[in-house]
Amino acid sequence: MHEISIANGILSRAVDAANEHGADRIDALTIEIGRATHVNPEQVVFCLEAIADSTPAAEATIRTETIQPRAECDCGWEGTPESLDLPGGFAPNIRCPDCGQRADLVRGRECRLASIEVPDASPEDKPPARRADEVRGSPS
Ligand SMILES: [Zn+2]
Repeated sequence: MHEISIANGILSRAVDAANEHGADRIDALTIEIGRATHVNPEQVVFCLEAIADSTPAAEATIRTETIQPRAECDCGWEGTPESLDLPGGFAPNIRCPDCGQRADLVRGRECRLASIEVPDASPEDKPPARRADEVRGSPS
């Protein structure tokens, strides 16, 4: 089970990102999990919820997106590697159906934070208080 370490990494990335935005709370976060990782998305979410307690992500809605695997070959072929569906397979040997060479998995191993949603903290979006003061303070 390495879901817990994945969850740890994603959480710290999310908290860093929230800090960069000056947000002290994360409303939602989205995780991309490639199908070729054989990581269980539900486990990652479960771990995240467990460790997010007392962090800015404690109340966050956690979404996962599955990334379909994609392979490419030097001959120009690209497609979805079928060998991924073999039981227990980590797709170590993807064969190009065109030329029979070994193809590279170019997508599907992701396991990362895709995005976070934080409360909008930009001052432009909070006009009422200041504008009211200006009106009140202006000479008539
Ligand atoms: Zn090929």
